[in-house]
Amino acid sequence: MSKYSLKCIECDSIVMTKGKFDFECGRHDSLLRSEYSVKRIKFRDYPGIWKFYDWLPVDAVSDNKGKPVSYRSVNLANELGLEDLYVSFNGYWPEKDANLGTCTFKELEAIVTVQFAKEGGVKRLVVASAGNTANAFAQVASVEEFPVVLVVPRKCLCDLMLPEMEAAYVKTIVVEGDYSDAISLAKRLAEMKGFTYEGGARNIARRDGLGTVFLDAVSTMKVMPRHYFQAIGSGTGAIAAWEAAIRLLEDGRFGGTIPRLHMAQNLPVAPMLSAWRDGRRELIPERDLPQSENVLDLIYARVLSNRYPPYGVSGGVFDALLDSRGDIYGITNQEARRAGRIFEEAEGIDILPAAAVCVASLIKAVEDRRVGLDESILLNVTGGGSNRRKEDMELREIEVDFELRRDASDEELGELEL
Ligand SMILES: *Cc1c(COP(=O)(O)O)cnc(C)c1O
Ligand SMILES: [Zn+2]
Repeated sequence: MSKYSLKCIECDSIVMTKGKFDFECGRHDSLLRSEYSVKRIKFRDYPGIWKFYDWLPVDAVSDNKGKPVSYRSVNLANELGLEDLYVSFNGYWPEKDANLGTCTFKELEAIVTVQFAKEGGVKRLVVASAGNTANAFAQVASVEEFPVVLVVPRKCLCDLMLPEMEAAYVKTIVVEGDYSDAISLAKRLAEMKGFTYEGGARNIARRDGLGTVFLDAVSTMKVMPRHYFQAIGSGTGAIAAWEAAIRLLEDGRFGGTIPRLHMAQNLPVAPMLSAWRDGRRELIPERDLPQSENVLDLIYARVLSNRYPPYGVSGGVFDALLDSRGDIYGITNQEARRAGRIFEEAEGIDILPAAAVCVASLIKAVEDRRVGLDESILLNVTGGGSNRRKEDMELREIEVDFELRRDASDEELGELEL
C-alpha cells in the first residue's frame, strides 16, 4: 500500500495525478489533500520535522534538522491574563533550540518540498517568491545540493539575505514587476526548460511541511488547542494547520474538536478580511484591495500582501474558516508594531512584522473576549529571531544571475544558461 493518496475536496474522490508535481483533480479547481494510510501518528525519533514522518509525503528523510519549537508561555500569558497560552516559535533562537536559519516557517515548506522533489526525479525546481520563500529554498537547496531557480520581483530583492554559503545550486532571476509576474514567468520557464514549477499553495509537500507546526505544538500540549492564531498572506499555513487538525481528529487521541482558526491580515491590504466580512467566497479585487500603485508600500508586514490567495477554492481559507468557526482580523501597522514590542519585552526575542500582526490579533481577541482567559491557545510565531541571528552570523545579499522583463519572450527564456 502506498504511504498516501491525493483526494479532491470537491468530488471527494482519490485522484491519480499525471506526475509528482501535478496537484489538479482535472475536473475541479479544488485543492487536493493528502490522505495518509497511517491514521494514528507515531512521533518518530528522527531529526527535526521528520519526527512527523508518518504524515509527510516522502519515503525517506534528509539530514535537515530544522524545526518549530513549541513552549508554554509564562510572561506574555501573564501580560495578557491568559492561563493556557502556547507559542510555536519558527525562527532562530539558539537558547530555545530554534534553528531555522532563514528565520521563518517557510523553511519547513522548503525542507519537505526539496525531499519530495528529489524522490520525484525532478531535475530542477523553479520557485517564485516575494521574499521569505526564496530565502528558505535558497538555504535548503544549498545545504541539500539540489538545484533551484528563484524568480523574484525586483522590489523584493532587498529582502533576500542569506548566510555565507556555497550557492552553486541556486540561480536567481529578477523580474521587473510584481509577485504575480514572477509566478507566470516561473511557470513559463519551467515549461520551456523541462524544469518543475513548485506549485505554491497547491503543493501538498509545502502544506504538509507547514502542518508540522501544529503537530509539534500538539505533541507538546498533548491535546489540540481550543484556538489557533496566525498571520496570513496566502493562508497556506492556516490551511495546513486545519488539515493537520483534521488528521489528529481522526487519530482520536488528541481531542475531539478542531481549533477555531483566528487569522490576521495587515490593513489596509486585507482582501480575505474584506470578502469574509461580506460573507463572500469570491475575492473581488476592485472591492477587496486598495486601489494603489504599489500595495507593498502600505504595510508593515510586506510578506502578507498576497493578491491571489487560495481563499475561495474548495479546501482553501474560506472552507477552513467555516469548518473551524474561525474569523479574520484586520491589524493596523501601528497595532502590529506595538504588539511586536510587547512580545519581545515579554518573551525576550525579536519577531518579524508578520508575527507581530499575529500577536496583535491575539491582543484584540482577548480585549474583545473572543477567547476565554482560561482556554488553550496556540500562537504561531511564523518568523522571528532575525536580529538575534545577526549577532551570530554574517549575512550577505543574494547574487542575481539574470534580469528579465515581465514580457520576456520565449526565445529569451530559452537562451538563459541555467
Ligand atoms: C509567508 C509568511 C506568512 C504568511 O504565510 P501564508 O502561508 O502565506 O499565509 C506569515 N509570516 C511569515 C513570517 C511569512 O514568511
Ligand atoms: Zn474533483
